[in-house]
Amino acid sequence: MWLGVITLFPEMFDAVSSNGVFGRAVDNGIISLNRYNPRDFSTDKHRTVDDRPYGGGPGMVMMVEPLLKALEAAKKDAPENALVVLMSPQGEVFSQAKGIDCGQLEGLILICGRYEGIDERFIRGHVDEEWSIGDYVLSGGELAAMVATDAIARHLPGTLGNQMSVIDESHLDGTLDYPHYTRPEKLGLDVVPAELLSGNHKQMSRYRRREALKRTLDRRPDLLTGRVFSQEDRKLLEECFAGCNAAKAVE
Ligand code: SAM
Repeated sequence: MWLGVITLFPEMFDAVSSNGVFGRAVDNGIISLNRYNPRDFSTDKHRTVDDRPYGGGPGMVMMVEPLLKALEAAKKDAPENALVVLMSPQGEVFSQAKGIDCGQLEGLILICGRYEGIDERFIRGHVDEEWSIGDYVLSGGELAAMVATDAIARHLPGTLGNQMSVIDESHLDGTLDYPHYTRPEKLGLDVVPAELLSGNHKQMSRYRRREALKRTLDRRPDLLTGRVFSQEDRKLLEECFAGCNAAKAVE
């Protein structure tokens, strides 16, 4: 995937491009990371990219011209149909489903805002979508862009050592992940669940599915609302409810 980021702080992306899963994807050529700094496209000696807001008020606003030139440079390098996205707390909240969908894109250009924001005319004229990573305000779009691109990268073939890792992950099918254990088998009185030690694959996968449903029910019941469950899931959920009721009776 061809990825372009328009940012006043291109060096911030060194953190992800040289570490971990995303770094490996860059090294292996699965992701081509390209950075464009609007300051390189400003025309005055101070390399100005922002100005005071019309109507007054606090803070500065990113000007259209340097941003547009940076976007044009990115578009020149990008695949023809690259999606142009502004990272913004006012955008659609980024999700696992969106991350998976974006794995199909040949090119993606992410614009990282700074200051109070960006001249609205640039957004109206040149941005296809706006993405938020949550209902809070960051100082800039760079961290948000890194979050979104990391989530996208996990679903690109060849990125993960074992692509099966994404199959059971939280939010893939609207449930949370099941709990994980590794050695040692016993930590004082806290032991690895017997099902996982049984060596019986059916038992292990039944246990994991039940724990995923239980955890979702406990922590994020909203994810289960309105869903149609398979017969097997219904049985497992009944077991979870029975477990909850038994625990309440003991209390
Ligand atoms: N004045 C803007 C508002 O209230 O909507 C916030 C501007 S914020 C200080 C500067 C930049 O950070 C934004 O232009 C955007 O690119 C980025 N940003 C902040 N919060 C974000 C979020 N939750 N998701 C994505 N990007 C965010």
